[in-house]
Amino acid sequence: MKHILITGGTGFIGCHLCSRLIGEGNRVLCLDNCYSGTLTNIKGLEKHPNFRFVHHDISKPFITDEKIDEIYNLACPASPIAYQKDPIFTTKTCVFGAINVLELAKKNNAKILQASTSEVYGDPIESPQKETYKGNVNPIGIRSCYDEGKRCAESLFFDYHRTYNTDIRVVRIFNTYGPKMAQDDGRVVSNFICQALKGLPITIYGQGIQTRSFCYIDDTIEMLIRTMQANNFYGPINIGTPTEITIKELAIKILEKTGNKSSLVFEPLPQDDPTQRRPDITLAKQILKYEPNTSIEEGLEKTIEYFASKL
Ligand code: UDP
Repeated sequence: MKHILITGGTGFIGCHLCSRLIGEGNRVLCLDNCYSGTLTNIKGLEKHPNFRFVHHDISKPFITDEKIDEIYNLACPASPIAYQKDPIFTTKTCVFGAINVLELAKKNNAKILQASTSEVYGDPIESPQKETYKGNVNPIGIRSCYDEGKRCAESLFFDYHRTYNTDIRVVRIFNTYGPKMAQDDGRVVSNFICQALKGLPITIYGQGIQTRSFCYIDDTIEMLIRTMQANNFYGPINIGTPTEITIKELAIKILEKTGNKSSLVFEPLPQDDPTQRRPDITLAKQILKYEPNTSIEEGLEKTIEYFASKL
């Protein structure tokens, strides 16, 4: 049994990771300040003898005598609406949070994984994005609290590795979707599904020609765990699916799947909204011996089913 600390464990990705690792017989300590996550996401786990939740803001040091073998650092609001609400707090969560978890890893001699993001590539000029691409980030825009915060966290991870030989893993997570996404955080998949199910117009920002590559949550979780298990590998590594679609295509797919006839309305494109995003996952296939196998059709059906049961 491994003793695993998950920061951001009540968030969308965090709660799935908690369930999976508990299911595999580990002890999980879940930290969260519930800024964007919710206790509802870990309902059911709370009573498990190997699971413990602690309300804590990771931008403050976390002190514990508990043994820790592995740390997954997922704590940070991740949707544009959530991370732009209090941008200074977002940067603190990324940067102070990284230092605090890295100190814990150093003290415990633990392996530590940083949930970085495709946002480190900004509005990429190169496509698909390889891990070697250095990105095209606006350092003073409305997304920079998150983009630069996550870039600084990557830098801290590699500096701890070089300075203290900390056993790090840096993963760059591309767009992920699935059950337990927050209904109200403005993400495109949750927005479109909820709008379609309620018969409301589908809000496309810009002309909907910008692209994203959507990875189903189970595939994301599998890739995170495999990265943690990989030996002598530190990253960075892209986590996601290379199937790229436009936002308008996504809207049409969701309308088809829900059987709804909502209209499409076009709203202004937010500032610095990336025009394209698609991971090159050659490295993931080679190191993790895995590639996502849930099609967008199957993933959307499961996600629609989830939201239909909630609304
Ligand atoms: N988007 C949209 N309508 C919405 C929500 C988002 O057209 O109701 C667009 C958004 O402008 C972006 C894409 O969908 O181009 C993905 O947005 P999301 O916030 O899900 O993630 P991110 O921009 O971080 O990839």
